[in-house]
Amino acid sequence: MKGIVIKSTGSNYLVRTDDGSVLSCKVRGKLRLEGIRATNPVSVGDIVEFDLESDEATGVITKIHPRKNYIVRKAIKQSKETHVIAANIDQTLLVATLLMPETPLEFIDRFLVTAEAYKVPAILVFNKLDLYQGVLDEVLEETMDIYRNIGYRCIAVSSVTGDGIAELRDILKDKTTLLSGWSGTGKSTLINTVNPGLNLRTGEVSMATMSGKHTTTFAEMFQLDFGGYIIDTPGIRGFGIINMTPEDVSHNFPEIFSRLSQCKFYNCTHTHEPGCAVKNAVDSGEIASSRYHSYISIINDDESGKYRTKSH
Ligand code: ZN
Repeated sequence: MKGIVIKSTGSNYLVRTDDGSVLSCKVRGKLRLEGIRATNPVSVGDIVEFDLESDEATGVITKIHPRKNYIVRKAIKQSKETHVIAANIDQTLLVATLLMPETPLEFIDRFLVTAEAYKVPAILVFNKLDLYQGVLDEVLEETMDIYRNIGYRCIAVSSVTGDGIAELRDILKDKTTLLSGWSGTGKSTLINTVNPGLNLRTGEVSMATMSGKHTTTFAEMFQLDFGGYIIDTPGIRGFGIINMTPEDVSHNFPEIFSRLSQCKFYNCTHTHEPGCAVKNAVDSGEIASSRYHSYISIINDDESGKYRTKSH
């Protein structure tokens, strides 16, 4: 039988079949995908084949279909092993807010760089529009312009007023969307507004923080009434940038990538070199200075970077 993994708890997987039934499945023995050193062999979003057990209520996963894409984060700090967060994603959506809390632009940029690296289309959703109207209208427009100018779709929404909800529903329809966003951005309420009755888990991130240890959090997939799936990643603030060289980073900033051939030196790092087309574009305002600052911050990154993937 064939199905899609909608939830994983590390040793058990909930698999949804085409007819809508959900079975608990296990993995027996070795089941490895080539080329991936992951702590979890099966991830949410995986299409799997499974055999029914004699009780006909549980199954054993026998095969994982090749993944269209997948996103990972480091399993443990300093480790080369990775944890696959989700597979077969059509798009990723970051819920951000300008107020209460203010999502740092650098966090948005790190999210976008990672999405580019995984070749997953990214959309920015600015929530709590009701708080900005008449107060931060210009800031909102300027912020969205920064990202629209480099090709990212941005929408402004409010769970309170209903603004943008129809557009958001349209974006999510019939797609598998990985949802991301800091706690406090109203992600869960927003999804419940888009699809009433779909209650994402909230506020269960404290255990990992309290123990002071890295605790693996698992993504979960929810089916939308109007078609499509949402993958929620509780406890994961953002997915990590893994093993990215400065060159890789420059390739994942669209506005830097498009200017690379115009730099005087082919190995330009866009930091100090003369004749740098990127720095010239920052000076002339063609590249947003916030984006350039994020680029510099990311290439100078170390393990203690404050916006890296965290389990709290
Ligand atoms: Zn340059």
